[in-house]
Amino acid sequence: MPLLEPGSPSDLVRATAAAFTERFGRPPTVLGRAPGRVNLIGEHTDYNRGLVLPVALPHATWVAVAPREDGALNLSSTQQDAPWTGTLDTLEPGSISGWAAYAAGVLWALREAGLDVPGLDLHVHSTVPLGAGLSSSAALECAVGAAVVGLLGLDLDGRHGEEPLRDLLVRAGIRAETEVAGAPTGGMDQTIAVHAQAGSALLIDFDDDSRRPLDLDLEGRVLLVTDTRVSHELTDGGYASRRADCEAAAQALGVDSLRHASLDAVEGLTDERVRRRARHIVTEVARVERTVAALEARDFAEVARCFLDSHTSMREDFEISTEELDTAVGVAVEAGALAARMTGGGFGGSSVAIVPEERLAAVVRAIDAAFALRSYPAPDHLVVEPAAGASLETDGLSRA
Ligand code: ADP
Ligand code: MG
Repeated sequence: MPLLEPGSPSDLVRATAAAFTERFGRPPTVLGRAPGRVNLIGEHTDYNRGLVLPVALPHATWVAVAPREDGALNLSSTQQDAPWTGTLDTLEPGSISGWAAYAAGVLWALREAGLDVPGLDLHVHSTVPLGAGLSSSAALECAVGAAVVGLLGLDLDGRHGEEPLRDLLVRAGIRAETEVAGAPTGGMDQTIAVHAQAGSALLIDFDDDSRRPLDLDLEGRVLLVTDTRVSHELTDGGYASRRADCEAAAQALGVDSLRHASLDAVEGLTDERVRRRARHIVTEVARVERTVAALEARDFAEVARCFLDSHTSMREDFEISTEELDTAVGVAVEAGALAARMTGGGFGGSSVAIVPEERLAAVVRAIDAAFALRSYPAPDHLVVEPAAGASLETDGLSRA
Protein backbone atom coordinates (compact mmCIF):
# COMPACT_ATOMS: atom_id res chain seq x y z
CA MET A 1 0.00 0.00 0.00
CA PRO A 2 1.68 3.28 -1.08
CA LEU A 3 1.84 5.72 1.84
CA LEU A 4 3.59 9.07 2.12
CA GLU A 5 6.34 8.04 4.54
CA PRO A 6 7.74 10.44 7.15
CA GLY A 7 11.31 9.21 6.56
CA SER A 8 13.87 8.35 9.21
CA PRO A 9 14.78 11.35 11.40
CA SER A 10 18.53 10.65 11.29
CA ASP A 11 18.45 10.34 7.47
CA LEU A 12 16.57 13.64 7.29
CA VAL A 13 19.06 15.37 9.56
CA ARG A 14 21.86 14.17 7.27
CA ALA A 15 20.00 15.15 4.09
CA THR A 16 19.23 18.63 5.44
CA ALA A 17 22.81 19.17 6.58
CA ALA A 18 24.15 17.89 3.25
CA ALA A 19 21.87 20.23 1.28
CA PHE A 20 23.00 23.12 3.49
CA THR A 21 26.65 22.28 2.94
CA GLU A 22 26.20 22.00 -0.80
CA ARG A 23 24.44 25.34 -0.95
CA PHE A 24 26.63 27.37 1.41
CA GLY A 25 29.99 25.61 1.18
CA ARG A 26 30.26 24.97 4.92
CA PRO A 27 28.41 22.70 7.35
CA PRO A 28 25.52 24.00 9.48
CA THR A 29 26.05 24.79 13.16
CA VAL A 30 22.72 23.44 14.35
CA LEU A 31 19.40 22.01 13.12
CA GLY A 32 15.90 22.62 14.41
CA ARG A 33 12.95 20.34 13.73
CA ALA A 34 9.20 20.82 14.11
CA PRO A 35 6.33 18.56 13.02
CA GLY A 36 3.27 19.09 10.87
CA ARG A 37 -0.05 18.29 12.47
CA VAL A 38 -3.47 16.83 11.84
CA ASN A 39 -6.36 18.26 13.79
CA LEU A 40 -8.69 15.53 15.09
CA ILE A 41 -11.54 17.96 15.75
CA GLY A 42 -12.16 21.65 16.51
CA GLU A 43 -11.92 23.57 13.23
CA HIS A 44 -11.76 27.40 13.12
CA THR A 45 -12.35 27.35 16.88
CA ASP A 46 -8.86 28.57 17.87
CA TYR A 47 -9.44 32.20 16.90
CA ASN A 48 -12.84 32.05 18.65
CA ARG A 49 -11.19 31.23 22.00
CA GLY A 50 -12.45 27.67 21.64
CA LEU A 51 -11.06 24.12 21.88
CA VAL A 52 -8.97 22.12 19.42
CA LEU A 53 -7.53 18.59 19.49
CA PRO A 54 -4.51 18.29 17.16
CA VAL A 55 -1.90 15.54 16.86
CA ALA A 56 1.69 16.11 15.66
CA LEU A 57 2.67 14.16 12.54
CA PRO A 58 5.82 12.06 12.23
CA HIS A 59 6.30 14.15 9.06
CA ALA A 60 8.34 17.22 9.97
CA THR A 61 10.45 20.13 8.76
CA TRP A 62 14.17 20.42 9.42
CA VAL A 63 16.00 23.75 9.36
CA ALA A 64 19.80 23.93 9.26
CA VAL A 65 21.50 27.22 10.17
CA ALA A 66 24.94 28.75 10.58
CA PRO A 67 25.60 32.33 11.74
CA ARG A 68 27.04 35.10 9.54
CA GLU A 69 29.10 38.04 10.65
CA ASP A 70 27.73 40.48 8.05
CA GLY A 71 24.04 40.57 9.06
CA ALA A 72 22.97 39.01 5.76
CA LEU A 73 20.16 36.44 5.58
CA ASN A 74 20.37 33.71 2.94
CA LEU A 75 17.34 31.45 2.98
CA SER A 76 16.75 28.42 0.77
CA SER A 77 14.48 25.37 0.77
CA THR A 78 14.53 21.99 -0.91
CA GLN A 79 10.80 22.49 -1.47
CA GLN A 80 11.06 25.87 -3.20
CA ASP A 81 12.94 26.96 -6.32
CA ALA A 82 13.58 30.53 -5.31
CA PRO A 83 16.06 31.26 -2.51
CA TRP A 84 15.65 34.53 -0.64
CA THR A 85 18.32 37.00 0.34
CA GLY A 86 17.97 40.00 2.62
CA THR A 87 19.43 41.58 5.70
CA LEU A 88 18.48 41.52 9.36
CA ASP A 89 18.14 45.29 9.56
CA THR A 90 15.52 45.62 6.84
CA LEU A 91 13.28 42.79 8.10
CA GLU A 92 9.76 43.91 8.87
CA PRO A 93 6.17 43.06 7.95
CA GLY A 94 5.58 44.07 4.35
CA SER A 95 9.21 43.67 3.33
CA ILE A 96 9.05 39.93 2.55
CA SER A 97 6.64 37.90 0.44
CA GLY A 98 6.35 34.29 -0.68
CA TRP A 99 7.61 31.30 1.26
CA ALA A 100 10.47 33.21 2.89
CA ALA A 101 7.95 35.34 4.81
CA TYR A 102 7.26 32.32 7.06
CA ALA A 103 10.96 31.81 7.84
CA ALA A 104 12.26 35.39 7.87
CA GLY A 105 9.07 36.43 9.68
CA VAL A 106 10.12 34.27 12.62
CA LEU A 107 13.59 35.86 12.67
CA TRP A 108 11.90 39.26 12.79
CA ALA A 109 9.50 38.18 15.56
CA LEU A 110 12.30 36.61 17.63
CA ARG A 111 14.24 39.87 17.42
CA GLU A 112 11.11 41.77 18.43
CA ALA A 113 10.87 39.43 21.43
CA GLY A 114 14.40 40.38 22.44
CA LEU A 115 16.49 37.46 21.15
CA ASP A 116 19.86 38.37 19.71
CA VAL A 117 19.35 36.80 16.26
CA PRO A 118 22.50 37.02 14.09
CA GLY A 119 22.77 37.07 10.30
CA LEU A 120 22.24 33.55 8.99
CA ASP A 121 22.61 31.04 6.23
CA LEU A 122 19.53 28.82 6.49
CA HIS A 123 18.27 25.78 4.59
CA VAL A 124 14.86 24.08 4.91
CA HIS A 125 14.02 20.45 4.16
CA SER A 126 10.64 18.88 4.89
CA THR A 127 8.47 15.79 4.59
CA VAL A 128 5.26 17.69 5.44
CA PRO A 129 3.19 18.18 2.29
CA LEU A 130 2.86 21.91 1.54
CA GLY A 131 -0.59 23.48 1.47
CA ALA A 132 -2.32 20.21 2.42
CA GLY A 133 -3.95 21.49 5.61
CA LEU A 134 -1.27 19.65 7.60
CA SER A 135 0.48 22.81 8.74
CA SER A 136 3.72 22.87 6.83
CA SER A 137 3.71 26.62 7.55
CA ALA A 138 3.88 26.27 11.35
CA ALA A 139 6.32 23.36 11.02
CA LEU A 140 8.61 25.71 9.10
CA GLU A 141 8.14 28.61 11.53
CA CYS A 142 8.74 26.51 14.63
CA ALA A 143 11.72 24.66 13.13
CA VAL A 144 13.30 28.06 12.36
CA GLY A 145 12.60 29.12 15.94
CA ALA A 146 14.13 25.94 17.37
CA ALA A 147 17.22 26.31 15.18
CA VAL A 148 17.79 29.89 16.36
CA VAL A 149 17.37 28.85 19.98
CA GLY A 150 20.02 26.18 19.40
CA LEU A 151 22.31 28.62 17.64
CA LEU A 152 22.13 31.00 20.60
CA GLY A 153 23.09 28.12 22.90
CA LEU A 154 19.78 28.31 24.77
CA ASP A 155 17.84 25.38 26.21
CA LEU A 156 14.57 24.84 24.33
CA ASP A 157 13.00 23.83 27.62
CA GLY A 158 14.39 26.85 29.42
CA ARG A 159 13.15 30.42 29.75
CA HIS A 160 13.83 33.81 28.22
CA GLY A 161 13.27 36.15 31.16
CA GLU A 162 9.97 34.99 32.65
CA GLU A 163 8.65 33.33 29.52
CA PRO A 164 9.23 29.66 28.67
CA LEU A 165 11.17 29.61 25.38
CA ARG A 166 8.66 27.20 23.89
CA ASP A 167 5.88 29.75 24.48
CA LEU A 168 8.07 32.43 22.91
CA LEU A 169 8.50 30.23 19.82
CA VAL A 170 4.73 29.76 19.55
CA ARG A 171 4.24 33.51 19.76
CA ALA A 172 6.96 34.24 17.18
CA GLY A 173 5.46 31.68 14.78
CA ILE A 174 2.00 33.23 15.11
CA ARG A 175 3.40 36.72 14.50
CA ALA A 176 5.32 35.52 11.43
CA GLU A 177 2.23 33.85 9.99
CA THR A 178 -0.31 36.57 10.71
CA GLU A 179 1.75 39.77 10.51
CA VAL A 180 4.43 38.88 7.96
CA ALA A 181 2.97 36.10 5.76
CA GLY A 182 -0.50 37.65 6.09
CA ALA A 183 -2.45 34.44 6.87
CA PRO A 184 -4.91 35.36 9.64
CA THR A 185 -4.85 31.94 11.32
CA GLY A 186 -5.32 31.22 15.04
CA GLY A 187 -2.64 29.69 17.24
CA MET A 188 -3.39 25.99 16.98
CA ASP A 189 -0.69 25.07 14.48
CA GLN A 190 2.25 26.65 16.27
CA THR A 191 1.06 25.40 19.68
CA ILE A 192 0.97 21.76 18.61
CA ALA A 193 4.20 22.08 16.57
CA VAL A 194 6.03 23.26 19.69
CA HIS A 195 4.25 21.51 22.56
CA ALA A 196 3.21 18.09 21.16
CA GLN A 197 4.04 14.99 23.17
CA ALA A 198 4.74 11.69 21.42
CA GLY A 199 1.83 9.25 21.61
CA SER A 200 -0.67 11.94 22.56
CA ALA A 201 -3.15 14.37 21.10
CA LEU A 202 -3.15 17.83 22.67
CA LEU A 203 -6.34 19.44 23.93
CA ILE A 204 -5.78 23.20 23.70
CA ASP A 205 -8.17 25.70 25.23
CA PHE A 206 -7.76 29.14 23.66
CA ASP A 207 -9.87 30.79 26.35
CA ASP A 208 -7.09 30.45 28.91
CA ASP A 209 -4.31 29.01 26.70
CA SER A 210 -4.20 25.82 28.77
CA ARG A 211 -3.05 22.52 27.28
CA ARG A 212 -3.74 18.91 28.22
CA PRO A 213 -2.10 15.92 26.50
CA LEU A 214 -4.54 13.10 25.83
CA ASP A 215 -3.16 9.59 25.47
CA LEU A 216 -4.21 8.40 22.01
CA ASP A 217 -4.53 4.65 22.25
CA LEU A 218 -6.94 3.77 19.48
CA GLU A 219 -6.97 0.05 20.38
CA GLY A 220 -6.18 -1.56 17.04
CA ARG A 221 -7.26 1.40 14.93
CA VAL A 222 -5.00 3.78 13.02
CA LEU A 223 -5.20 7.43 12.09
CA LEU A 224 -5.31 7.76 8.32
CA VAL A 225 -4.81 11.18 6.74
CA THR A 226 -5.72 11.65 3.08
CA ASP A 227 -4.29 14.67 1.28
CA THR A 228 -6.70 15.42 -1.58
CA ARG A 229 -3.93 17.40 -3.33
CA VAL A 230 -6.38 20.25 -3.80
CA SER A 231 -4.10 22.89 -2.40
CA HIS A 232 -5.67 25.36 -0.04
CA GLU A 233 -4.45 28.92 0.20
CA LEU A 234 -4.99 30.59 3.54
CA THR A 235 -3.75 33.99 2.48
CA ASP A 236 -6.65 34.40 0.01
CA GLY A 237 -10.08 35.55 1.13
CA GLY A 238 -11.97 32.44 2.34
CA TYR A 239 -10.30 32.03 5.70
CA ALA A 240 -10.37 35.75 6.46
CA SER A 241 -14.05 36.06 5.53
CA ARG A 242 -14.96 33.17 7.88
CA ARG A 243 -13.04 34.91 10.61
CA ALA A 244 -14.82 38.20 9.87
CA ASP A 245 -18.23 36.45 10.04
CA CYS A 246 -17.33 35.00 13.45
CA GLU A 247 -16.31 38.44 14.69
CA ALA A 248 -19.55 39.94 13.34
CA ALA A 249 -21.56 37.26 15.17
CA ALA A 250 -19.74 37.87 18.46
CA GLN A 251 -20.29 41.59 18.10
CA ALA A 252 -24.01 41.18 17.34
CA LEU A 253 -24.34 38.95 20.41
CA GLY A 254 -22.39 41.34 22.63
CA VAL A 255 -19.75 38.74 23.62
CA ASP A 256 -15.97 39.06 23.35
CA SER A 257 -15.78 35.78 21.40
CA LEU A 258 -18.09 33.00 20.22
CA ARG A 259 -16.71 30.78 23.00
CA HIS A 260 -19.00 32.74 25.29
CA ALA A 261 -22.13 32.56 23.13
CA SER A 262 -24.94 30.06 23.69
CA LEU A 263 -26.50 28.08 20.86
CA ASP A 264 -29.88 29.64 21.71
CA ALA A 265 -28.46 33.12 21.32
CA VAL A 266 -26.77 32.15 18.04
CA GLU A 267 -30.04 30.78 16.62
CA GLY A 268 -31.53 34.24 17.16
CA LEU A 269 -29.01 36.00 14.89
CA THR A 270 -30.82 37.70 12.03
CA ASP A 271 -28.15 37.44 9.31
CA GLU A 272 -28.58 33.92 7.93
CA ARG A 273 -24.97 33.40 6.85
CA VAL A 274 -23.48 34.79 10.04
CA ARG A 275 -25.89 32.59 12.04
CA ARG A 276 -24.66 29.45 10.27
CA ARG A 277 -21.01 30.40 10.74
CA ALA A 278 -21.55 31.00 14.47
CA ARG A 279 -23.56 27.78 14.82
CA HIS A 280 -20.58 25.83 13.47
CA ILE A 281 -18.24 27.35 16.05
CA VAL A 282 -20.54 26.85 19.04
CA THR A 283 -21.47 23.27 18.12
CA GLU A 284 -17.86 22.44 17.16
CA VAL A 285 -16.55 23.47 20.59
CA ALA A 286 -19.15 21.17 22.17
CA ARG A 287 -18.06 18.36 19.84
CA VAL A 288 -14.44 18.71 20.94
CA GLU A 289 -15.57 18.28 24.55
CA ARG A 290 -17.66 15.24 23.59
CA THR A 291 -14.78 13.74 21.60
CA VAL A 292 -12.34 14.10 24.50
CA ALA A 293 -14.81 12.46 26.90
CA ALA A 294 -15.48 9.69 24.38
CA LEU A 295 -11.76 9.02 23.77
CA GLU A 296 -11.20 8.82 27.52
CA ALA A 297 -14.13 6.41 27.87
CA ARG A 298 -12.97 4.42 24.79
CA ASP A 299 -16.41 5.08 23.30
CA PHE A 300 -15.40 5.05 19.64
CA ALA A 301 -18.99 5.06 18.37
CA GLU A 302 -19.42 8.47 20.01
CA VAL A 303 -16.11 9.67 18.50
CA ALA A 304 -17.49 8.62 15.11
CA ARG A 305 -20.70 10.63 15.63
CA CYS A 306 -18.68 13.70 16.60
CA PHE A 307 -16.46 13.40 13.49
CA LEU A 308 -19.39 13.01 11.11
CA ASP A 309 -21.42 15.82 12.73
CA SER A 310 -18.31 18.02 12.52
CA HIS A 311 -17.89 17.27 8.83
CA THR A 312 -21.54 18.08 8.12
CA SER A 313 -21.24 21.32 10.06
CA MET A 314 -18.15 22.35 8.06
CA ARG A 315 -19.82 21.43 4.78
CA GLU A 316 -23.18 23.09 5.40
CA ASP A 317 -22.82 25.78 8.05
CA PHE A 318 -19.21 26.89 7.61
CA GLU A 319 -18.96 25.99 3.91
CA ILE A 320 -15.26 25.13 3.84
CA SER A 321 -15.41 21.61 2.42
CA THR A 322 -14.85 20.57 -1.20
CA GLU A 323 -16.19 17.74 -3.38
CA GLU A 324 -12.88 15.93 -3.01
CA LEU A 325 -13.00 16.15 0.81
CA ASP A 326 -16.65 15.03 0.89
CA THR A 327 -15.69 12.08 -1.33
CA ALA A 328 -12.70 11.09 0.82
CA VAL A 329 -14.82 11.21 3.98
CA GLY A 330 -17.86 9.42 2.54
CA VAL A 331 -15.88 6.67 0.83
CA ALA A 332 -13.65 6.10 3.87
CA VAL A 333 -16.69 5.40 6.03
CA GLU A 334 -18.34 3.19 3.37
CA ALA A 335 -15.13 1.16 3.11
CA GLY A 336 -14.90 0.51 6.83
CA ALA A 337 -13.42 3.58 8.55
CA LEU A 338 -14.97 4.11 11.94
CA ALA A 339 -14.98 7.89 11.68
CA ALA A 340 -13.89 10.52 9.19
CA ARG A 341 -13.99 14.27 8.67
CA MET A 342 -12.18 16.97 6.75
CA THR A 343 -9.40 18.59 8.78
CA GLY A 344 -7.53 21.90 8.74
CA GLY A 345 -8.66 25.28 7.51
CA GLY A 346 -10.60 23.92 4.54
CA PHE A 347 -11.11 24.94 0.89
CA GLY A 348 -9.01 21.89 0.00
CA GLY A 349 -6.45 20.00 2.00
CA SER A 350 -6.90 16.76 3.90
CA SER A 351 -9.32 14.45 5.64
CA VAL A 352 -8.65 12.37 8.75
CA ALA A 353 -10.15 8.96 9.48
CA ILE A 354 -9.96 6.42 12.29
CA VAL A 355 -9.64 3.05 10.61
CA PRO A 356 -9.51 -0.47 12.06
CA GLU A 357 -6.06 -1.78 11.11
CA GLU A 358 -7.48 -4.67 9.11
CA ARG A 359 -9.53 -2.24 6.98
CA LEU A 360 -6.68 0.18 6.23
CA ALA A 361 -5.68 -1.22 2.84
CA ALA A 362 -9.32 -1.49 1.73
CA VAL A 363 -10.08 2.11 2.76
CA VAL A 364 -7.03 3.46 0.91
CA ARG A 365 -7.93 1.45 -2.21
CA ALA A 366 -11.55 2.63 -2.09
CA ILE A 367 -10.58 6.31 -1.83
CA ASP A 368 -8.05 5.95 -4.66
CA ALA A 369 -10.66 4.25 -6.85
CA ALA A 370 -13.30 6.90 -6.11
CA PHE A 371 -10.85 9.71 -6.95
CA ALA A 372 -9.81 8.01 -10.20
CA LEU A 373 -13.45 7.50 -11.18
CA ARG A 374 -14.16 11.20 -10.70
CA SER A 375 -10.90 12.26 -12.41
CA TYR A 376 -9.62 13.98 -9.25
CA PRO A 377 -5.83 14.09 -8.75
CA ALA A 378 -4.52 10.91 -7.08
CA PRO A 379 -4.55 11.54 -3.32
CA ASP A 380 -1.69 10.91 -0.88
CA HIS A 381 -2.21 8.90 2.28
CA LEU A 382 -0.33 9.21 5.57
CA VAL A 383 -0.58 6.95 8.60
CA VAL A 384 0.01 8.97 11.75
CA GLU A 385 1.76 7.87 14.93
CA PRO A 386 1.56 10.96 17.19
CA ALA A 387 5.01 12.59 17.29
CA ALA A 388 6.75 15.02 19.65
CA GLY A 389 6.99 18.80 19.24
CA ALA A 390 9.89 21.03 18.21
CA SER A 391 13.39 19.78 18.96
CA LEU A 392 17.05 20.51 18.39
CA GLU A 393 18.81 17.92 16.24
CA THR A 394 22.47 17.15 16.59
CA ASP A 395 22.41 13.42 15.87
CA GLY A 396 24.07 12.66 12.54
CA LEU A 397 25.35 16.23 12.01
CA SER A 398 29.04 15.39 12.18
CA ARG A 399 28.57 12.64 9.57
CA ALA A 400 27.00 15.00 7.06
P1 ADP B 1 -0.20 24.35 5.27
O1 ADP B 1 0.34 25.01 6.47
O2 ADP B 1 -1.50 23.67 5.52
O3 ADP B 1 0.77 23.42 4.60
P2 ADP B 1 -0.17 27.05 4.33
O4 ADP B 1 -0.76 27.72 3.15
O5 ADP B 1 -0.50 27.56 5.68
O6 ADP B 1 -0.50 25.49 4.20
O7 ADP B 1 1.42 27.09 4.24
C1 ADP B 1 2.08 26.61 3.09
C2 ADP B 1 3.18 27.59 2.71
O8 ADP B 1 4.21 27.57 3.71
C3 ADP B 1 3.87 27.19 1.44
O9 ADP B 1 3.17 27.68 0.31
C4 ADP B 1 5.23 27.88 1.61
O10 ADP B 1 5.13 29.26 1.35
C5 ADP B 1 5.47 27.73 3.11
N1 ADP B 1 6.25 26.49 3.39
C6 ADP B 1 5.86 25.44 4.11
N2 ADP B 1 6.81 24.48 4.17
C7 ADP B 1 7.84 24.93 3.45
C8 ADP B 1 9.14 24.39 3.09
N3 ADP B 1 9.51 23.17 3.48
N4 ADP B 1 9.95 25.16 2.34
C9 ADP B 1 9.56 26.39 1.94
N5 ADP B 1 8.36 26.94 2.22
C10 ADP B 1 7.49 26.23 2.95
MG1 MG C 1 -0.52 26.62 7.48
